[in-house]
Amino acid sequence: MPARLDRFRLIAAGQAEVAVLVVDSDVLLVERQLRAGRLNCPACSAPLAPWGHGRSRMVRGDLGARLFLRPRRTRCSGCQVTHVLLPEAVWPRRMDAAEVIGTGLEIAALGMGHRQIAAHLGMAEGTVRGWLRRFRRRSEDVRRHFTVALVALAEDPVMPEAAASPLSDAVSVIAAAHRAAAMKWPEMNTGSRWAFAGRAIGGQVLTCTTSAS
Ligand SMILES: [Zn+2]
Repeated sequence: MPARLDRFRLIAAGQAEVAVLVVDSDVLLVERQLRAGRLNCPACSAPLAPWGHGRSRMVRGDLGARLFLRPRRTRCSGCQVTHVLLPEAVWPRRMDAAEVIGTGLEIAALGMGHRQIAAHLGMAEGTVRGWLRRFRRRSEDVRRHFTVALVALAEDPVMPEAAASPLSDAVSVIAAAHRAAAMKWPEMNTGSRWAFAGRAIGGQVLTCTTSAS
C-alpha cells in the first residue's frame, strides 16, 4: 500500500476515554499489518503492537440488519498509548453502520425529512433525526475539511456548486473528494463513499473530539 494512502487511512480520532484509529474494514488485512509492525501511532509514529481486544458491540445496518464487532486494541511501542482500531464501516460512538448513516445524509441532501428517511431505511425516526441534527452542526467543518482534501487529491479540482443547504454542500464535497481519491489511486480500493469519509476525517463525520455527544 502506498505510504500516503496508509497515512490517509490512519488519521487519529482521539476520544475522551480512549484513542481510536479508523482502519480498513478488512480484519485480516489489518491483523497482518499490525503483526508486521506496519500500523503506526498517529501521535509518535512508532509501530503499534497487538494489545487484546476492545469491548464487543453491535452495529445496526439498514432494514434490521445487525453485525457484531470486537475491535482490536493496540499499544504504541513508543508512547505506550493504547488505541482501538475501528473498522471504517463504523464511526466512533455510533451504533449504526457508516453506510446507513451516509445513505440517510444523502437522502436528506435531496431535501427529504427525517420521517421519510427513517421509513426508507427501516430505522427509528429519532435515530435519523439525531444523525441529521449532528451532521447539520458539523456540516461547515466537514465541508471545509473535504474541500481541502479535494484540492489535495484532484489533478484539476472542480468545486461542487453551492447546493440548497450547508448539509447538501457537505455531502456534495464528500462525494467529490471520494471520486478524486478513486481517480488518484485507481489501483487501490478506496472503499465506499462513507467508509472513505470516516477514514479521511478520523471518524468525525457526525461528532468532533471536543463535542460532548
Ligand atoms: Zn505513540
